[in-house]
This record gives sequence, C-alpha cells and structure tokens, in this order.
Amino acid sequence: MSTHPQVDIPVLLEISRGGGIKGRSRRYEKFLGDMEGVYRDDEAWRAAVAERGADELVYWVDDQRYHEGPGALIVGTSTVLPGTMGDEFAVTRGHIHAVSDRAEFYYCMSGRGVMQMETLDGQVSAIELTPGRAVNVPGHWIHRSVNVGDEPFVTLFCYAADAGQDYGVIADAGGMKQIIVVDGDGWAAVPNPDHRGYREYVAN
Ligand code: ZN
Repeated sequence: MSTHPQVDIPVLLEISRGGGIKGRSRRYEKFLGDMEGVYRDDEAWRAAVAERGADELVYWVDDQRYHEGPGALIVGTSTVLPGTMGDEFAVTRGHIHAVSDRAEFYYCMSGRGVMQMETLDGQVSAIELTPGRAVNVPGHWIHRSVNVGDEPFVTLFCYAADAGQDYGVIADAGGMKQIIVVDGDGWAAVPNPDHRGYREYVAN
C-alpha cells in the first residue's frame, strides 16, 4: 500500500499583462447593478445605472485552483475598470478572509491603483500600485482594490485556497473607514463619515 498522498496534476497558466488567464478554472464578474451600497454617493450610483445599465461590467476575477483544501493556492488576476462614482474611484467590494489569518499577495501587472487595507480594530493602509509594485497583504486585514488611473487596473494575486471571503464586514460597518477620492490629478484617502467601526464585527 502506498503512503503517498493523492496529488493534483500541474497545469500551465498563460497570464497576459491585460489579465487574461489561459488555463483558468473560473471567472467571476461584477456588474454595475451589483454595486448597490458600495459607494457613498447613492444618487450617483442610481444615475449611473439608469444611464449605463445595471448589466455593465465593472470588474472581474479569473482564477485557477486545484481544490479548496488547506495547503493549496488560488492564483488569479483581478481587473477593475476605471471610473468614479461621485468623487470616489472605482473599487471592488472588498472583504476579509473567512479564515481571517490568511494572507494574500497582489502584484500589479498594468494600470494604476491602490490596495486599500483596514483592520477590525481601526488600522488603515493604502498602498499605490503600478506595474512591478506589489503588496503582501497580511492576515486579518480587510482589503479592496481601487482603480485610481484611467485604464484597467490589473493585479495578479495568490492566496491560500481555504481562506474564503467574508463580504459582509464592510457593509455592516457602513463602509470602510476611509474612502479613496479624486484629489487634483491624483487620489487621497479620506475619512468616511458613514463608517460605524468594525469593532463589534465577528467574522463567520
Ligand atoms: Zn482576499
């Protein structure tokens, strides 16, 4: 009897600078209509939906995974299209990992963006990413991608396959503690007056 574990068969991934992955196992898409409550300026969001349609694609994720057991990796790309909603730059919904100590690596392949990160006890970090720059997001940090440029913001990511995502954490707090807004030709992280704090939040 063999004592070797069952193994997955390695697959080749061809990852383009624009974010496409040949060999991916999944694509996850988000549309304008899915973004209700994500931006502070609800009126701007409603006007955008009325003008551009709820089915306009705003960001997507391609990934490859063998399985979701501990020890495996999920690798993929995230592509956030440019734009603003009111004075806020285009964002992903953001999440904390359901297994909250799980870290995640993000490497910018194209575009210009910000990795916005916050802890449940109120620490904040916003790191600008341009091609060649990366951030190793530690465990226990809520994280979201923000496109502060005028072309698609594409990152390559990698995280533990058993991490999972908890998306309720931001909505339950009235939004993230900071928002990333237009500031002249650039961006600024400013306090979100609607944020109620994460302190009471208990991850699943
Ligand atoms: Zn994550």
